Amino acid sequence: MRGKLVVGNWKMNGGLASNAALLVALLAGWKPRADRDVAVCVPFPYLGQARDALAGSPWSWGAQDVSRHASGAFTGDVAAGMLAEFGCRFVLVGHSERRQLHGESDAEVGAKAVAALAAGLTPIACVGETLAERDAGQWQAVVGRQFDAVAAALEKDLPLAVLAYEPVWAIGTGRTASPEQAQEVHAFLRERLRQAGAAGVRILYGGSVKAGNARDLFAMPDVDGGLVGGASLVATEFLALAGA
Ligand code: PEP
Repeated sequence: MRGKLVVGNWKMNGGLASNAALLVALLAGWKPRADRDVAVCVPFPYLGQARDALAGSPWSWGAQDVSRHASGAFTGDVAAGMLAEFGCRFVLVGHSERRQLHGESDAEVGAKAVAALAAGLTPIACVGETLAERDAGQWQAVVGRQFDAVAAALEKDLPLAVLAYEPVWAIGTGRTASPEQAQEVHAFLRERLRQAGAAGVRILYGGSVKAGNARDLFAMPDVDGGLVGGASLVATEFLALAGA
């Protein structure tokens, strides 16, 4: 039985004061459940703040990106070992905003997932098609290609990863995939995972998840939780959807 995992992606939002209030509210409001893991992925400068606030609680924390390299002349990048020093459990790799705005290739995403695991972090590898790709009937090809790159890079370690299906057309748009649309893609990914001997990998859905739609999405057999952007910045909303 795969327990559900709900992860907040703060993106490039926050500040010391507002983070402190949000973290306190998450700690105070979350009723621990054996079948549910909860986490926040915060901007790099706030990892220490997240660690100090959340250590010893049911909440895990992580980062939103990582370098494929362990160290060296890579100005502006952050190594997985550095994230591990801050107690990170998770790191996002291949978020569509990294792919689209920073030109990250499938191979780069796979290499980042490898680097994360080498440092003891769990990579949350994001895949998802654009609206144009969906309308052209290409979602299987796109999502399959993105998945295959991660699987090829991780090889026998694929079972240690988490996947997130995030249709680009549903991210930050208020437009959510229907539970049935999400399930269709998650079942496709589950079959790929099964063929790779990694059927137990959790597959999160991301794209305008909120308290009002989380229960129906999470009820789908292959939806193992959510990766949540905007709604993770509002404690009451995030707590409600995480418990849905
Ligand atoms: C995300 O960026 O991972 C995301 C799912 O964003 P939102 O929930 O705001 O659509």
